[in-house]
Amino acid sequence: MPNFSFRRAKDVRRFAAVLTAISLALGVSACGGNSSAGGDDKPVVLTTFTVLADVAKNVAGDKLRVESITKAGAEIHGYEPTPGDIRKAAQADLILDNGLNLEAWFAQFVEDLDVPHAVVSDGVDVMPIAEDSYQGKPNPHAWMSPKNVQIYADNMAKAFAKLDPSHAAEFEANAKAYNAQLQTVQDEMVSKLSVLSEKQRALVTCEGAFSYLARDAGLKEVYIWAVNAEQQATPQQITRAIEFVKDNQVPAVFCESTVSDAPMQQVVGATDAKFGGVLYVDSLSEADGPVPTYLDLMRHDAKVITTALTGGTP
Ligand SMILES: [Zn+2]
Repeated sequence: MPNFSFRRAKDVRRFAAVLTAISLALGVSACGGNSSAGGDDKPVVLTTFTVLADVAKNVAGDKLRVESITKAGAEIHGYEPTPGDIRKAAQADLILDNGLNLEAWFAQFVEDLDVPHAVVSDGVDVMPIAEDSYQGKPNPHAWMSPKNVQIYADNMAKAFAKLDPSHAAEFEANAKAYNAQLQTVQDEMVSKLSVLSEKQRALVTCEGAFSYLARDAGLKEVYIWAVNAEQQATPQQITRAIEFVKDNQVPAVFCESTVSDAPMQQVVGATDAKFGGVLYVDSLSEADGPVPTYLDLMRHDAKVITTALTGGTP
């Protein structure tokens, strides 16, 4: 995608200029984090997106202040950080990112900051992307397997212990307790989806973000585009999805909360499949929405998928 590369390079240059200006203004080139940012004495942990913030809060308990750079509902792959984000990051004590190329903007974001950061996906069993221009690259959506998120939680406990050694035992105990809840949700998800018959075992979504969930639950994953980017849902991609749905008589198809469902509605219009509902992957909802926590997100998606594929109404 030449267009994509061009815009990326331009963004990076513009972004670097903004970053330099702000670094100079704040005088952050030589100093570390600033625990007093935000009005209490707790160290500040910034995550790149809402799912990580929720997991981090479970591990941190009340000992750290955890915030997400991107807000609920944001598109996280191609996010463009604001000067406010950079200011906030310069004052944080620790930054957590997913890694696996999820946050295309992140390397540039932390490059000039003297703030430690940890990659929470370190050690997960990575699945490659099967097609498109991303073929062979890691699929970044590792958190769609609660078993992987157990590794995320352990990595966070280690990073928090370095940041605040006096509470290391508490972080470890919190991660252990949270990991038990993750196991329950993982088991519930697999058992819920196990009612699907062989014919119903196809998960057709907008983005190819469900590889890990599909692997865990024994579903065939089909998507319109591999990873959210500036060019997605080409006519060929939509045609391919339509053919798959027709050939396999797929009863329902889905789209994610952070992207437009218009391309999938085209698939619905051209086939006998119903629109099965909105799935959450790249972002939690607001606190009063359907998935304010990661555990809610996994339960919600398993329920929506099972209901729609077995012929129920969403
Ligand atoms: Zn995604």
